[in-house]
Amino acid sequence: MTRVLVLNSGSSSLRYRLFDGSEVLAKGLIQRIGEDGGDAADHREALQRLMDTVDLTGLAVVGHRVVHGGDRFTASTVINDEVVATIEELVPLAPLHNPAALTGIDVARKLLPDVPQVAVFDTAFHSTIPPEGVLWAIDRDLASRWGLRRYGFHGTSHAYVSRETARLLGKPVTETNVITLHLGNGASATAVRGGRSVATSMGMTPLSGLVMGTRSGDIDPSLVFHLHRVAGLSLDEIEDTLTRRSGLLGLAGDNDMRTVQERRAAGDQQAALTLDVYYRRLREYVGAYLAVLGRVDAITFTAGIGENSPPVRAGTLTGLEALGIAVDPDRNARNELIISPDGTPITVCVVPTEEELEIADEARRAIGSES
Ligand code: AMP
Repeated sequence: MTRVLVLNSGSSSLRYRLFDGSEVLAKGLIQRIGEDGGDAADHREALQRLMDTVDLTGLAVVGHRVVHGGDRFTASTVINDEVVATIEELVPLAPLHNPAALTGIDVARKLLPDVPQVAVFDTAFHSTIPPEGVLWAIDRDLASRWGLRRYGFHGTSHAYVSRETARLLGKPVTETNVITLHLGNGASATAVRGGRSVATSMGMTPLSGLVMGTRSGDIDPSLVFHLHRVAGLSLDEIEDTLTRRSGLLGLAGDNDMRTVQERRAAGDQQAALTLDVYYRRLREYVGAYLAVLGRVDAITFTAGIGENSPPVRAGTLTGLEALGIAVDPDRNARNELIISPDGTPITVCVVPTEEELEIADEARRAIGSES
């Protein structure tokens, strides 16, 4: 039995995909759960609707996407009461995300009691980052008491595309070093050495690192004190502005990369400056991770922006020939799998991410039934 149902539960949505091996048998999104005129009154009704419309015969396992595994989960884990309790303990680290996953897990265990359920964590792939890459230089008692450290996110995506990159290069994963750039609404960069994450740009939460659609990425933490003491914003207002009104939206007034690109093409100076900031941040991380890895085989772009935006890829990597990095304009314009010229020391790749497939494979591996 190789059928896997992947569930990605949001606070008011349930995204699902049913796999047989790597083949997608069904997929969908039940949304506005609990809202007037929404698709379902609650997550239980949403899952019931899925079960009424999708044939789940022969289902081997359900894989749940869980955003935060803290330092308690370093791999995908078969769910039992204890696992649920531990994910609950991690809610303070991911107050927006983990409660929704717990709701999805709860209804799936009730409605599909005979099917094993597996939690697949966005953080787990980064559990191999060495201490010097996860610790901040703050009071260590405070840090250990409150779990203040880098965890990293988008792990299923970085894991999948770094493996696919090795396959593309025809090299064993264990001998391949890759910088993976997951550029979607959320965005993160990861340094992968021999298949293991050794550095990543997101931190304790998915707020730090690269410029994102509405998230600031890296800032001086003193901005928070200043906004509170001098500008008079409450902590909730500061969180709101840094997570929902910053990034592309904050700089350009638009959170969609396509629109920002179109505006720049039409001569909009604010859009141009926004993109310069976006590219500059990316280049800083690429440079840092070249130094962390020492030897890099490939730089791989993925997710909505990474897979589809030639200007972003060119804007990030132009002028780096002395570092062995180049982008071929025609290959780039065609979104080809390899966009660097033949013979450049570092291969630049575009690999579509498959987070749901990776979750399905992880779920199968966790119950010991490799497909
Ligand atoms: P994701 O979160 O991976 O779905 O990515 C969403 C982001 O991808 C949005 O900012 C979109 O504007 C961006 N995107 C999708 N298609 C393109 C494109 N052709 N060019 C630039 N950005 C794109």
